[in-house]
Amino acid sequence: MSFLEEFQRWSFPGVQQRIASSNGARVEQALSRSAGQLDADDLIALLSPAADAALEQMARQAQATTRLRFGKTVLLYAPLYLSNICYSQCTYCGFSYGKDIRRLQLSPEQAEVEAGLLHAAGIRHILLLTGEAYRESSINYIGDCVERIARSFASVSVEVYPLKTEDYLSLRWRGLDGLAIYQETYDPRRYAAVHLKGIKARMEYRLECPDRAGEAGMRRIALGALLGLSDAASDVFFTALHARYLMQRFWQTQISISLPRLRPATGVDDVASIGDRDFARFLFALRLFLPDAGLTLSTREPAPLRDELCGIVATQISAGSQTSPGGYSDSGAARQFEIEDRRTVRQVADALAARNLDPVFTDWSPALK
Ligand code: SF4
Repeated sequence: MSFLEEFQRWSFPGVQQRIASSNGARVEQALSRSAGQLDADDLIALLSPAADAALEQMARQAQATTRLRFGKTVLLYAPLYLSNICYSQCTYCGFSYGKDIRRLQLSPEQAEVEAGLLHAAGIRHILLLTGEAYRESSINYIGDCVERIARSFASVSVEVYPLKTEDYLSLRWRGLDGLAIYQETYDPRRYAAVHLKGIKARMEYRLECPDRAGEAGMRRIALGALLGLSDAASDVFFTALHARYLMQRFWQTQISISLPRLRPATGVDDVASIGDRDFARFLFALRLFLPDAGLTLSTREPAPLRDELCGIVATQISAGSQTSPGGYSDSGAARQFEIEDRRTVRQVADALAARNLDPVFTDWSPALK
C-alpha cells in the first residue's frame, strides 16, 4: 500500500475545476469547522479564489491553531549543497543536465568544513542536498557526509534522489533522521512536460518515496510542491492529501510541508508568478486542514513576508542560506536558484524575537535517537 493508490482515486483537472467553482457559502461552512475537522471539500473551498474575501478570518483562525499546537517556536535550519552534478533534466532548475554551469562536488572533508561554518553561525539542523548523480553522489558518499556532520548537529536531513527503503535504513544507521522530497507538481501532464530526462521523470516512483522513508522509520519527512509549475491551488490540495495520508500511516514521523514559489535560475527566467495573498491563503488553509503539520518557509521568500508569516502560520524557516556547493566558503559554483532573504542567521533570529516569537535551533537531541 502507498499514497499512489489514494492519488489514483482523484483527477488533477477534476480538483482544479472544483476549486475554480467553489463559492463564499462553501468557504463559510469550512471556516465554521474546528481546525483538524475539515474534509477534502472544505480544503477545496479554502484553497479557492472565493476564500480570498475571508483571508483575515482565515489568518486569525490559522494563527490561533498554530499557537495552540506549536506555541511561538520557529525552528531555524540551513541547507548545505554537497553537489550540483545532475543527470536529470528539469526545465525549472539551474542544475539541470546539459546546462553550461560550473559543476562542483564537495568531498566529505570539505562538506564538514562547510557545516562547521553553519555550526559557528548557530545552526544545529542541517539539510544536505545533491543532484541526481548516482555515481558521484552515491549512497556511500552521502553516508560519509552524513556521518561526519551528524557528530556535531542535532538533526541531519537529506534532499537527494529517491532511494529504496533499505538505503534509507542504511543512512539512518549513519546518523540521518530526516528526508525532504518534493513532488514538485501532482499534475501528471505538467510533471511529464517539465521532467524531461533522468530518474526524476518517473513520477510514480517519486510519489511513493515518502512511503519508503516512512517504512525505514525516518523521524522527519518534508513534502512540497513547486508553485508555478501547474495550477497552484490544486498542487497544494494534493500535497495536503499526501501529508495527511503519511501522518495517518506513520504517526511517529513528523511531517512538514513547504510551498516554494518558482524563482529565476540559470536559464530559467520566464517563471509563473503566484501572488502573496494566494500564497498566504494556501498556508492558512493547510494549517486549518492539518493543525499538526510543520509549515516551512525558505529563503526564496522575501524577509518581510517570512517574518509576517512566522507570526501566523510558519513553524520552521531556513536562514543564512547558500544554494551552491561550497557556497558558505565562496566556491563560485553555480547556484540552484536565487534567494530573496539574504539576512544572516543572527539577523533572522533577532527579527523573530522582535516579534515576540521564539527562534529555536534544536528541537531534538541525538541522545534520544
Ligand atoms: S531539480 Fe533536482 S533532479 Fe531536477 S535538475 Fe535540479 S537538481 Fe537535478
